[in-house]
Amino acid sequence: MLLDSLKADLAELDAQSLRRVRRSLDTPCGPHARVDGRDMLAFCSNDYLGLAAEPELAAALKAGADRWGSGSGASHLVSGHYTVHDELERRLAAFVGCERALYLSTGFMANSGVIPALVGRGDAIFADRLNHASLVDGALLSRADLHRYPHADLSALERALAASTAKRKLIVTDSVFSMDGDVAPLAELLALADRFDAWLMVDDAHGFGVLGPDGRGALREAGLASWRLVYIGTLGKAAGVSGAFVAGHADVVEWLMQKARTYIFTTGAPPALATALLKSLDLIEHGSERRRHLAALIEQLHSELKLQRWQLMPSRTPIQPIVIGDNAETVAAARALWDTGLWVPAIRPPTVPQGSARLRISLTAAHTHQDVERLVTALMQLEHAA
Ligand code: PMP
Repeated sequence: MLLDSLKADLAELDAQSLRRVRRSLDTPCGPHARVDGRDMLAFCSNDYLGLAAEPELAAALKAGADRWGSGSGASHLVSGHYTVHDELERRLAAFVGCERALYLSTGFMANSGVIPALVGRGDAIFADRLNHASLVDGALLSRADLHRYPHADLSALERALAASTAKRKLIVTDSVFSMDGDVAPLAELLALADRFDAWLMVDDAHGFGVLGPDGRGALREAGLASWRLVYIGTLGKAAGVSGAFVAGHADVVEWLMQKARTYIFTTGAPPALATALLKSLDLIEHGSERRRHLAALIEQLHSELKLQRWQLMPSRTPIQPIVIGDNAETVAAARALWDTGLWVPAIRPPTVPQGSARLRISLTAAHTHQDVERLVTALMQLEHAA
């Protein structure tokens, strides 16, 4: 019985063009990928600086494995914490300009652990409606009241904050929205946090390494610093490895180390990853040429792509979505691109709101101007034919 109803649910996903496919790559992360036996030009990864397959990073990972072995053996607070983790945390904190940082295994764990450590029953969370799923889940886990304000709507947020009688308040936002590519109004959010005595948690998964001076992230780009700011950076996107960190005031980070369950009750990430991440920080810091090239590719896409019905969103970040709207039409477009050797993912509800299915192009410093030109030509032909 149970299995029959699950089978019916799967069939329903098919009926709504919502079943996700998983493809297997047989080449390292990069624009030129062998996928399911085909040579493709890929525009899907979050490897914004092109570091994931960088030989210097792979060499650092190998050196880390030689020095530390493969596993950490325990959770951080038991015996799975190593001096190289300390070094990484010091470097991360200094890099983003915070007093202290705590390294966690993934961004999902950082977000879903930090929120319940900061607020609980009787408190209130104010979250942008387009925040990443891990922030939503963290909010639900916390049992605090959850107010989701319309995307980037500062007056709605202000009204909700003014109406709240909660003891502790937490404003939560993505810095760069992962399916739209736009950047949150961080200075205005911090001003509201100051006015209403709230924490402001900023998930910079897509900004760390890309935005700000030397890639130091969205807060540094906006020139913001405050004990109220709880900064999340992830290390599996621009940093090209994996993991995440939370950074902020030393007492806040100490509290998170004491209370975040996704930090405490999980095996520490292999210390070799920390060795690789130290190298990654060097490459990010000295990566201005990669960031300049990436910016030129974004500029090229906007100046060359001319669409009639579909809409390229006004994003200045490597995330470049084209909204098509209808699920089936979006899937058909992705399929047609695939058939010409271009890999661009179709993003559908529930990842994005109903009626706003889109192609999500992500550009990386490993792409060339010729790669973007090929994509532009294919997209314009496709829209014309559709
Ligand atoms: N936050 C945002 C905005 C993300 O896009 C993602 C990953 N897609 C995460 C957090 C989760 O990070 P991780 O992949 O390291 O778990």
